[in-house]
Amino acid sequence: MSNIEQTLSIIKPDAVERNLENEIKEMFKNNGFSILKEKKIQIEKSEAENFYKVHETKPFYNDLCEYLSSGPIVVMVLEKENAVLGNRELMGATNPKDAADGTIRKKYGISIDKNSVHGSDSVENAKIEIEFFFKD
Ligand code: UDP
Ligand code: MG
Repeated sequence: MSNIEQTLSIIKPDAVERNLENEIKEMFKNNGFSILKEKKIQIEKSEAENFYKVHETKPFYNDLCEYLSSGPIVVMVLEKENAVLGNRELMGATNPKDAADGTIRKKYGISIDKNSVHGSDSVENAKIEIEFFFKD
């Protein structure tokens, strides 16, 4: 049975800064994702704090929110069969050092904090995150 899903992807400041936007989008397209919506924006730290609220008790929370708001990002709605898990697989492990060959983070990630991309971790969170950036 078909299970088309949408997920939220973010190309993070370290990747936008290195002009990797088009290469990363090509990786999504080559892996069967359609980019339904996209915009390049810079967010306020307070918005990053809302977006990453689940991590508010973590030691890296403040740096993470500083970082996500430090420069332009590209936010996208991706769609394909089982898009949430598929995007997590294509992104690779949080720490680029642990990411498998062929993944975005292996190819482009610099460090655990500058790991080039964000992807929703569940269908439920994908809905919340898409709504967060694309309310219309
Ligand atoms: N992060 C960090 N240090 C850590 C763990 C995570 O800076 O020890 C950052 C990293 O940018 C990561 C984000 O916090 O992408 C969110 O963490 P999460 O565990 O949700 O990883 P992800 O879902 O992005 O793989
Ligand atoms: Mg996460």
